[in-house]
Amino acid sequence: MRPLLLGEAEVPNVLDIFWSLSTDRGRSSVPILGFLIEGGKDGPVVVDCGMRDPRRAIEVHRLGPHSCTPEQSLAAQLGNYGVRPEQVTTLILTHLHYDHAGNCAQLPNARIIVQRSELMAAAAPMGPPALAIGGKSLFYDRADVAELVDPLWDRLELIEGDVALFPGIDCVLYANSHTPGHQCVYVKTEIGTAAIVGDIARKVDLNVTQGVLPAIYYDLEAMRRALADIGRRAGRVLPTHDWDTLKQATIG
Ligand SMILES: [Zn+2]
Repeated sequence: MRPLLLGEAEVPNVLDIFWSLSTDRGRSSVPILGFLIEGGKDGPVVVDCGMRDPRRAIEVHRLGPHSCTPEQSLAAQLGNYGVRPEQVTTLILTHLHYDHAGNCAQLPNARIIVQRSELMAAAAPMGPPALAIGGKSLFYDRADVAELVDPLWDRLELIEGDVALFPGIDCVLYANSHTPGHQCVYVKTEIGTAAIVGDIARKVDLNVTQGVLPAIYYDLEAMRRALADIGRRAGRVLPTHDWDTLKQATIG
């Protein structure tokens, strides 16, 4: 499994801890990651594909600075491992937030796997327009949703619940965790099971080992159960926005 560095974002540190129960008012630069899974007979699989445009993070979602260098484009990151975008057969989306689902069209031959409940939530988000951060779309990008429901519709596969997608690659739904239809991807590797957890965990030690839940969730109890289950199942937990994931994911 290979990590893909698809951009960077400056975010408040309080995102790491639920109810903002933190005295840390600082900000950090975090990675926006995707993953490439090779070796299966069904061709290269990508999990999450980064953001459509860093400017939209600021203008639409009212967030802090975001960036994506040419070297961090999806095509360039796949190219680091000798894979061309048209060779990717499957794109799995952990959830549909702007920083995970913005570049689906760049993989022209991939079937796109997403939980049906997640598409429903993304199409009709519950963001009050007055929100200073997130706004009406609540971190879902209307352009991403529009693309999925029309030009990419024939390649979209809406799944419901847990699905064994390929030998050694399982999608597991954690409803109402970070988002209503957020799924994790469990990957069997030579050194045990790795969990691509999207944004259910932000920091492994804090959120999984210590059990301090991160800030963004729909149901706090569901989030707690999700993190406990991830901790039980996976030897390696790979959050999207943790620099440690870059080091861990290259092994095995
Ligand atoms: Zn994210």
